[in-house]
Amino acid sequence: MSARERLIPRQPEVNIGTAGHVDHGKTTLVEAITGIWTSAHSEELKRGITIRVGYADAAFYKCPNCPSPDRYSPYPRCPNCGSETTLLRVVSFVDCPGHESLMANMLSGAAVMDGAILVIAANEQVPQPQTREHLLALEMLGMRHIVIVQNKVELIDDQKALESYHAIKRFTAGTVAENAAIIPISAQNRINIDAVIEAIETHIPTPKRETQAPPFMQILRSFDVNKPGIKVQDLKGGVVGGTLLRGELKVGDDIEIRPGLIEEKAKPLFTKIKSLGTSAGLVDSVRPGGLIAIGTSLDPVLTKSDSLLGCVVGHPNTLPPILDSLTMYVQLFETAVGSPELVKVEKIRSGEVLRLNIGTAVTLGNVSASKENAVEVNLRRPVCADKGAKVAISRRIGDRWRLIGAGTIT
Ligand code: GDP
Ligand code: MG
Ligand code: ZN
Repeated sequence: MSARERLIPRQPEVNIGTAGHVDHGKTTLVEAITGIWTSAHSEELKRGITIRVGYADAAFYKCPNCPSPDRYSPYPRCPNCGSETTLLRVVSFVDCPGHESLMANMLSGAAVMDGAILVIAANEQVPQPQTREHLLALEMLGMRHIVIVQNKVELIDDQKALESYHAIKRFTAGTVAENAAIIPISAQNRINIDAVIEAIETHIPTPKRETQAPPFMQILRSFDVNKPGIKVQDLKGGVVGGTLLRGELKVGDDIEIRPGLIEEKAKPLFTKIKSLGTSAGLVDSVRPGGLIAIGTSLDPVLTKSDSLLGCVVGHPNTLPPILDSLTMYVQLFETAVGSPELVKVEKIRSGEVLRLNIGTAVTLGNVSASKENAVEVNLRRPVCADKGAKVAISRRIGDRWRLIGAGTIT
């Protein structure tokens, strides 16, 4: 095996998200660590931005002979001294879009993150609007493990780098990222990537998983893997991809997908697991961590073009209820932070339309009642969620949806 070969020896065990303003270098950093450019769809290549949540995995290794942080690398042989390294963890990166119009996609990605890297460009004023909005989103979803990277440091002198560092400290004071490590890097020039890996190993633990619980997977994408013109007898069933949050799934399991097809009413789909894929290849069973692809016996027409994004997967009749309406306990922010100017958040009014992110699902809702902190909403698209589930609430301000607060389904 060549020294720079990147093998994924087993299923990833932890999901690390990227967050931060557009163009600050999230996708470049993921590429520097994993060797994979996650923005591969034609529309993304054309516009030069990440649109859909992307996944790329890496195995982290430690050299027994080199000092920190040089000893950390994604290679089974040390790039500094050539020694054989020890496998630490297999990690999955969930690369999120940073453009303000793609906040809903970022929130879907945030629903499956166990830790996050907040990428902040050192050559711009801190904070930029989505730097603020993403940190607020992570905080409200309960994210506790954050590493900050100060990117593009090769573009500025030491004095400016120090100013940017102090601006980051002021901006994060009082937030969940207050004591986060701040690693200066150049993602493009691959400088200090070993220190980022060390910070991830130190500050983003693998969460304790409930492997005995009934399986619960959030769908982030779904596809038809067949090429156009294929013969009917060669057709492969529909594929759904996402992250298992708890439990285990095995080839041969019966599964239910909720809410499933949305016609007049939600129609859950029942099928069987025909195959299971992870970045380590085809497997017989999967645990939480990384992107899992489930090959089903569903008609691929039902799964094409991300039609099942936002649905959840589990064993039949074990999933949370399908909700057409919900009541939530709401805490609003003082200001909406997604634009350069901070806008005061007014109370939620009966009759207004909100955008709600619940897990990886996103739907619009009409507010039917709003009293104190209790808000009742009729959903345009049903969602599958339990009491206690977190809701990210956005409102149209000017010409954009802005995050205005957090809800909990009651
Ligand atoms: P994202 O929107 O946060 O995912 O940002 P990208 O990774 O797509 O990077 C945006 C632009 O910044 C691209 O043109 C990158 O080549 C550039 N970039 C990323 N990292 C660095 C860096 O360390 N230094 C410099 N000078 N440019 C960088
Ligand atoms: Mg990107
Ligand atoms: Zn070494």
